[in-house]
Amino acid sequence: MEAFVVGSGPNGLAAAVTLARAGLEVTVFEAQPTIGGGARSAALTLPGFTHDICSAVHPLAISSPAFADMPLHEYGLEWIQPPVPAAHPLDGGRAVLAQVSVNGTARQFPADAPMYRRTMAPLTANWPELVSDVLAPPHLPRHPFTLARFGLLAPWPAATVARAIFRTESARALFAGMAAHSFLPLEMAGSAAFGWILGLSAHAVGWPIPRGGSQRISDALSGYLHSLGGAVLPNHQVRTLDDLPANSLVICDVTPRQLLRIAGDRLPEWYARRMERYRYGPGVFKIDWALNAAIPWRNPACLSAGTVHIGGSLEEIAASERATWQGEICERPFVLLSQPSLFDRGRAPDGKHTAWAYCHVPNGCEEDMTSRIEAQVERFAPGFRDVILARHTMLPAQMQEHNANLVGGDINGGAATLDQLFLRPTASLYRTPLPGLFLCSASTPPGGGVHGMCGYHAARAALRELAVSRRCV
Ligand SMILES: Cc1cc2nc3c(=O)[nH]c(=O)nc-3n(C[C@H](O)[C@H](O)[C@H](O)COP(=O)(O)OP(=O)(O)OC[C@H]3O[C@@H](n4cnc5c(N)ncnc54)[C@H](O)[C@@H]3O)c2cc1C
Repeated sequence: MEAFVVGSGPNGLAAAVTLARAGLEVTVFEAQPTIGGGARSAALTLPGFTHDICSAVHPLAISSPAFADMPLHEYGLEWIQPPVPAAHPLDGGRAVLAQVSVNGTARQFPADAPMYRRTMAPLTANWPELVSDVLAPPHLPRHPFTLARFGLLAPWPAATVARAIFRTESARALFAGMAAHSFLPLEMAGSAAFGWILGLSAHAVGWPIPRGGSQRISDALSGYLHSLGGAVLPNHQVRTLDDLPANSLVICDVTPRQLLRIAGDRLPEWYARRMERYRYGPGVFKIDWALNAAIPWRNPACLSAGTVHIGGSLEEIAASERATWQGEICERPFVLLSQPSLFDRGRAPDGKHTAWAYCHVPNGCEEDMTSRIEAQVERFAPGFRDVILARHTMLPAQMQEHNANLVGGDINGGAATLDQLFLRPTASLYRTPLPGLFLCSASTPPGGGVHGMCGYHAARAALRELAVSRRCV
C-alpha cells in the first residue's frame, strides 16, 4: 500500500520510517528545497561557517525511544557531548553550571544542595522510564511510581517551585533558565515541568550536538528511509489533498492552520472550528554569528558548555517571559545561546567560531532584537561585539517563510499550555475525522523538540487504523 507524508521535519521523517518498516511504500513531500524542517543547517553567514537554522542542541533526540530504535549512526549521525550541558552566567562574573553530575551541580549552591539532590537524583536514575511515559500520548503509565514522583513536581508554575524549594540565587536562576524553554510565563501552571525535564536530561543524557550540524539528523533519517525503499521529494508543496492520490494514507507534518488550508473543505465544521481555535505561542527572533574567536565570557567556565542561558536572575528571566507572553518587547530578553564550534571544529574555519542564539518575542513580532540580544551577551562577555565577523538574523515572519510550520515564529507547533499539552491539537490527537488522514507534527503529543515521537505515534495510530479497516474488508 502507498502512503504519503506531507513535510520532512523530524516527525514527518520518523512517521515515514515507521510506515516503511511496516512494509508500506512511502513518499515524503517537502515544500522547501532542503529537507529536515526544524533540523537543518546551512552556511548562513560566510563560506566555511555551518549554522543550525533551527534546532541546535538535542537532549530529546538522544532520549527518543523512536530514534534509539533506528540505526541512525549508520547513516552518519554522530553525537558530540560538550563537557558541560549548560552554563548560566550571573552578574559579577559568577556562573552556575548544569553539569552532567547531579552532585557536581548541587555543590555549586551548598544551601540548596540537599534539595537539588533529593529532587533530581531519583528521577535522573529513572530517566529512560520517565521518558517513555513523558514522550508519549496520554496513556496508562507504564512506570507509575516514577511518573507519580515527576507528577508531584511538574504541574506548578516554575517561579513558585523555584522560590519554594530553593533559597539561593544560583539554584533559582538555573531552574528558571531551564523552565524558560517552555515559552510560558514562569508564573503559569505547568511551566515547572519543562524546568525539570530539561534539568533532568542534562544529568541523564547530556545536551549533545550532532557532528556537522542538525542537518545530519535529518540526513540520517532520510538515508535510513531510503534504505527501506522510501523517498523524500523536496520542492513539493502540498497545497490541497487533491494533490495526492485518492484513498491513500496521508500523514501531515503540519500545524492546524496549514491542515485547514490543505484539507479545510473536507473537514467537518466542528473539527475545523477546533483547529481554528488552536493557540500558537510566542515566536522567536534568531541570530547566527560568524566569530573571529570564541566568545570572551567573563567567567571562562562558560566555555565548557554547549549551551548558555543568558538572563541573570529568576526575577529577570520571569519578567522577560511574562512580557513576551503579554505581547510586549523585553529590553533585557532571556537569550538561549549555543556555541557548537567549540566542540565540533568542522563548523568554522581554523581559529574561527560560530554561535547561535534566539530570544522569545510576541507571535509575529516585527521588532529587530539584534542589539538587545547582543547587549545581553556583551553583559556577560565584554568584548563580544568585537569578535563578530558577520551575523544573520531571522524575524518570526522570515522563520515562517523558511518553514510554514513556524506560525508567527512559534517553534513548538503551538503553545504548550496545560490544556494543549496532552490533548493536542484536539482530544483525537493524531487522528482527524477523515479516514486515512493523520497529523504528526509538534502540534500533536508530546509536542515541540527534535525527538520524532509525534511522527512515530501518529504512524502507529495510522497502522492500527489500517489493520482494522483490512480486517473489516
Ligand atoms: C530557532 C529554532 C530553534 C530550535 N531549537 C531546538 C533545539 O535546540 N532542540 C530541539 O530539540 N528542538 C529545537 N527546536 C524545535 C524543533 O525544531 C521542532 O520542534 C521540530 O523540528 C518539530 O518537528 P516537526 O517534524 O513537527 O516539524 P518541522 O521540523 O517544523 O517540519 C515541518 C516540515 O513540513 C514542511 N511543510 C509544511 N507544510 C508543507 C506542505 N504543505 N507541503 C510540504 N511540506 C510542508 C516544512 O517545510 C517543514 O520542512 C527549534 C526550532 C527553531 C525554529
